[in-house]
Order: sequence, then C-alpha cells, then structure tokens
Amino acid sequence: MQYRTLGNTGLQVSVLGFGASPLGDVFRAIDPVEGARSVDLAIDRGINFFDVSPYYGRTLAETRLGNALRGKRDRVILSTKCGRYDVAGFDFSRQRIKTSVEESLTRLRTDYLDLFQAHDIEFGEASQIINETVPALRELQQQGKVRFVGITGLPLRMLKHVAEQAPVDVILSYCRYNLVMDDLDQILTPFVKDWGIGLINASPLHMGVLTGSEPPSWHPAAAVVREAGKKAAQLCQDEGEDLASLAVRFATDYSAAASTLVGMNSSEQVEHNLQALETPVNPELLRELQTVLAPVKNLIWRSGRPENQDQPELEQSEARVAAFA
Ligand code: NAD
Repeated sequence: MQYRTLGNTGLQVSVLGFGASPLGDVFRAIDPVEGARSVDLAIDRGINFFDVSPYYGRTLAETRLGNALRGKRDRVILSTKCGRYDVAGFDFSRQRIKTSVEESLTRLRTDYLDLFQAHDIEFGEASQIINETVPALRELQQQGKVRFVGITGLPLRMLKHVAEQAPVDVILSYCRYNLVMDDLDQILTPFVKDWGIGLINASPLHMGVLTGSEPPSWHPAAAVVREAGKKAAQLCQDEGEDLASLAVRFATDYSAAASTLVGMNSSEQVEHNLQALETPVNPELLRELQTVLAPVKNLIWRSGRPENQDQPELEQSEARVAAFA
C-alpha cells in the first residue's frame, strides 16, 4: 500500500481509503457480518483511512464501523462528520456539534477522532460555517477530542471560500475528480496546495455510475450520465476489462489527493479495489473511455442552498443536460 501525507496534518493516509457509507445500507441492504469482514481485511491489507458520518444509515454506519473496529482503533485514521443527520436534517450550530462529537465517539467506541468534518456545508449558511461551525470544531481540537478538522461538500467554490475565511486542516470533495469529472483540479487543488490543506477525493465510482451496475435510485446525476456510465462499462467488458477497477486506479493516481475514498461493503470489493492499485490503466482503453464519457464530462447537479452553488458550472451543466432532451 502506498501512503501520502495529508496536507500539513502530517498524517500518512493510504491512497485507497475506506468509505464506510455502504455499511449504513446507503446503496443497498448489506450483510453486516460481511461488512465487518471487509473492514478487517482492509486493515490487514494496509488501508488505514476510514471515513463515516452519522448521516449514513442515520447512525447505522457509525455503529457498524465502531463494532468492526473493536481492538483495532489504534491501527486506523478515523474520520467522521457532523452537521448533517438526514436528507433535509442539518444543524451546524456550536451546540449540536458538541453533542454530535460525543454521540459519534460512543458509536465509534473511541475517545478521540483523527478527523472531524462539517458535512455538506452547502446546506448551511456560509456565515454560520465560518463564524460558528469551524470555530466549534477548533474548540473540540483544543480539548483533544479531535486531532484535525475539516469541511466536506459538492460545490468547490464554497469549500474554498469557507476555508479562506476559516482555515481548516482538510477538505473532502466528492464526485469532482474521476473518469467523468476533473474540475476539482482547476477549482480547488491549487488552493489546497498553497494553503497546506489536506485533500481527500471521494466517490471515484461517481457513487455507483462507474461500476457497471445500476446506480441507486437517489443518485442525483442526470439520466444521460447514468447512460454514459453503462456504455463505458460495456466498452470495458467488450475488452475484457473492468470499469470499476480502472476508475479506482485512475483516481488513486491523482497525487494531489492524499487519499481516494471508495465505498466498500464486502471483502470481495476490498480485494477488487486493492487489485486495481496494482493494475496500471491501459492508455488506449482510457482514451476510448474518455471519448464515450466526453458528452457528460463535468456535468454537475444542484446541491444545497441557491447561493452556495458553483456558478457558472451549474448553469452550463443544466444547459447541456437540457440540450440532450
Ligand atoms: P463511490 O464512488 O465510492 O461508489 C460506491 C459504490 O460502488 C458502492 O455501491 C460500492 O458498493 C460500489 N463498489 C465499490 N467498489 C466496487 C467494485 N470494485 N466493483 C463494483 N462496485 C464497487 O461512492 P461513495 O461510497 O459515495 O463514496 C466513497 C466514500 O466517500 C463514502 O462512503 C463516504 O465515506 C465518502 N463521501 C463523502 C461525501 C461527503 O462528505 N459529502 C460524499 C460522498 C462520499
């Protein structure tokens, strides 16, 4: 396993990180015993970065991850989040963050977190995140309950704006750098490099679009994006290759991100994704895939409050999607 330094935190995180949202039955109901086995296997094979949230399965993922980590806590870098608790359930107040950390510590069976992040900040008011949420996270850091603090979300410009006003240790971005998206590289990466902020890249499979299986019904991407994912999977299959493996390797090759978080729910998926790290991307197939995916490249969707959207990327995306109709 290769490790990279997470910004100025000094933490050495595995390039392949374990996204624990599937443990909360977010994509489909899973076998919890197999879920625990996947955590065990990941640790034994050198994956040391685990990310979860109370939102995933409405606390189920944290509870299952906490159980699976019994006796192994000191072998992992553990990240969870606060502020998001349901589809429309947000509370970024200082008071809620302070109760939230205690609840997460109990569920995760630990007395400290390595990373504590405000979850999907675009659903909050920028002024509150800057003046109340990040300072509350820093207070928890001073108390020794969390080692480092961060923010997560979809719109890149808001992540940048908030971090400029209220510096954080880590930013987690999702669905903005993978085989269909790369605007993370222009919009956020130069900033995090300048500021020494650790960058985590999540969802290299575009939350299921790049797996060859049907993405979950809640998936927010336009239908054309799902269709392009299916074509890409077929192309790989025709050439005897696997789209998910190629997508994982493509994302983990992006060295600006210290770790790439892949959601995993079985030892088979862990094995598969570890194998992907050993398999260089076939350049010819990559070119063919890029051609198939070009019409839907960098199409984003609305997430959060109107004032927190990435403009003009959202407007351009919506115009392009409308033109497909
Ligand atoms: P992802 O792109 O990693 O896709 C996960 C899906 O792909 C799951 O259904 C998983 O079972 C499946 N999968 C994994 N490996 C596979 C393989 N080899 N073959 C076929 N299918 C495979 O999306 P994700 O899970 O949403 O993102 C990864 C993690 O990043 C999350 O679990 C979470 O920890 C984090 N994340 C955070 C935020 C946020 O903070 N706002 C948002 C998205 C993701």
